[in-house]
Amino acid sequence: MNLIEPLESKLDLRLGTLSGATGHYAKRLADLEGLYVDIAAFRLACATIGDTVVYEVDEYRPSNAAGDVIFGLTRMSPGHIGDEFYMTRGHLHYKSNRPEIYYGRGGRGVMLMESPEGEIRTAFIDQDTVCYVPPYWIHRSVNVGTDDFVMLFCYPADAGQDYGCIEAAGGMRKQVVKNGTGGWMLGDNPGWHRSAEDAAALMARGEGASQ
Ligand code: ZN
Repeated sequence: MNLIEPLESKLDLRLGTLSGATGHYAKRLADLEGLYVDIAAFRLACATIGDTVVYEVDEYRPSNAAGDVIFGLTRMSPGHIGDEFYMTRGHLHYKSNRPEIYYGRGGRGVMLMESPEGEIRTAFIDQDTVCYVPPYWIHRSVNVGTDDFVMLFCYPADAGQDYGCIEAAGGMRKQVVKNGTGGWMLGDNPGWHRSAEDAAALMARGEGASQ
C-alpha cells in the first residue's frame, strides 16, 4: 500500500497562501455574474473593476478518497456591490451530509447558511472564531469588514461541491447587506424559490447516490 506523505504547511495570511498547496483558484468580479441582486450596480462595477480578484483559495488536496480531508486558506477582499457585501459563490456539498470547519484568521466576516427548506443561520467570524457548518447546510462566506477576510477551512475529501442548487433557487434566501451604520444585516432576496420536491432531493443526496 502506498501511503500519502505527511505534510507541514506554512500559512501566509497576508497573501492568502499555504506552502505545499496542490491547487489555487481566483474569482474576479467579472466571473461572478448573477451573484448580486443589484444587477445594474454589478454591471457598473464590472466596467471599471471587473478584473479585481474578489476572493481566492489555496488548497491542499491529498486525495479525493472517503475518509481523507482537504484543507486550505480562503482570502476575500473587502467591498460591496450596491448594498451587498463581497461574498463567495457558495455551495452545498455534493454529498450533502458532509460538514465543514472554518477558522477565522483575519478580518471580519459572516458565514451565511441555508437549509434545503430555506431556514437561515449566520455565524460571525473574526480572528480565532471557529465555525462548524453541519451536514446539509448550503454555505457562503461574506466579508463584512474593511480588511481582507481570511479563513482556514477543512472538509471531507469526498464531499464535492454543488453550486447549481443556489443558482436554481435564484440565490440564497437572504442577502448580507450594509445596515447604514457601518455594520451588516440580513435582507430578503425576493427572487428566491425552492420547491419542497427540490429541497427533498437535496436532503436525499446525502451520500451523493442520485448522481
Ligand atoms: Zn463547503
